[in-house]
Amino acid sequence: MSVDNGCASAGARKTLSVDEARQIILSTVTPLSGWEKVAIRAALGRILAADVIAPCNVPAHDNSAMDGYAVRAEDLSADGEVSLQVVGTAFAGRGFSGIVGAGQAVRIMTGGVMPMGADTIVVQEIVRTEGSTVVVPAGIRKGQNVRRAGEDLAEGAVAIPRGKLMGPAELGLAASLGLAEVCVTRRLRVAFFSTGDELATIGRPLAPGEVYDSNRYTLHGALTRLGCELVDMGVIPDRPDELEAAFRNAAACSDVVLTTGGVSVGEADFIRELMARLGEVSFWKIDIKPGRPMAFGKIGNTWMFGLPGNPVAVMVTYYQFVMDALLRVAGQDPLPQRPLMQAVCTSAIRKLSGRKEFLRGRLYLEDGQWQVRSASAQGSGILRSMSEANCFIVLDEHRGDVSPGETVQVQLFDGLV
Ligand code: AMP
Ligand code: MG
Repeated sequence: MSVDNGCASAGARKTLSVDEARQIILSTVTPLSGWEKVAIRAALGRILAADVIAPCNVPAHDNSAMDGYAVRAEDLSADGEVSLQVVGTAFAGRGFSGIVGAGQAVRIMTGGVMPMGADTIVVQEIVRTEGSTVVVPAGIRKGQNVRRAGEDLAEGAVAIPRGKLMGPAELGLAASLGLAEVCVTRRLRVAFFSTGDELATIGRPLAPGEVYDSNRYTLHGALTRLGCELVDMGVIPDRPDELEAAFRNAAACSDVVLTTGGVSVGEADFIRELMARLGEVSFWKIDIKPGRPMAFGKIGNTWMFGLPGNPVAVMVTYYQFVMDALLRVAGQDPLPQRPLMQAVCTSAIRKLSGRKEFLRGRLYLEDGQWQVRSASAQGSGILRSMSEANCFIVLDEHRGDVSPGETVQVQLFDGLV
């Protein structure tokens, strides 16, 4: 593996664009092997490890799409009414066991199996009944309102491809095939810790100069939603020996290690030295705001992401670089597309060209138009802005200030799990 491809000397080279960094990460990480069989309900949120093949036709039999009468098209007339003798009834789950002969019809309910001999359904709304006779109008097409066996899925076809994230539709689809279990990829094990001498643990008063460690809780939320198995390793002070032990332990027990803090200029120096000994990790400067510094690489077989320390930068870099990488390692294929939406910006935004900015925004509908305003405080340490916001306002590297009324692109938080 080379995580330096594309930025052969990230140190010497200026910086990486957001797209370059994403591209390097996503083309470097590879899916895990390892899978397990789980019951259908337990497959929700998991990724399929093997194609689900339809073991039978869906629907299993030709059946009626409507309530009405099962008839033989050859008995009908193109230009006049026809009277047919009703000889029985077919319910969903309880069919008509006879054969529909010439001049005969069978009353049939939606889902009822097509009686032998019949090939067409006439909906009940257009017929007239007279005793045990049904009068069918002219102009009925052969095969009308019949659902064919295998129309949804033919036996042997791929019903759900491997790599698919199992959602409600996939649970139902697997169940519609009569499957009680599916093969899903192994859950991703992610170890994470916060670094910083100033970090205090929640639940006790702060000493002077301390800040509560919030990053581990944000990551706990994001990783849990992604379906990962978590190894929370707590707070590690900025001491080389303790950091080294933490990295070794984390790498030994997980597929991916995430850390926050300690990658900015100065601090990064001894972590860089440590990483050179422990694994193959690059330190990047990315044209992104917030979140410029980041480390990415491998320690043994474990992928490693060193995110910045500022709480908003952690979230931005996690969503822009880490989340999809985790999905890829977990086996999701293809990765989800995350469309950007256009909205009219109602705030004035100061923006220097050179970095792609992910501002926190509030998208709302007014007068039939989607509009977005920027959250009041945009500092990369102000986590409240993430909580107030429902989207990122995404401003490209090259653009400058935004004036109210300009159209901007936004990325909705919905969908960023
Ligand atoms: P660093 O990247 O380590 O220089 O940290 C940048 C800023 O983020 C500093 O103000 C840190 O106090 C703050 N910070 C780092 N880690 C955390 C954390 N786990 N929770 C809250 N703030 C943090
Ligand atoms: Mg620090």
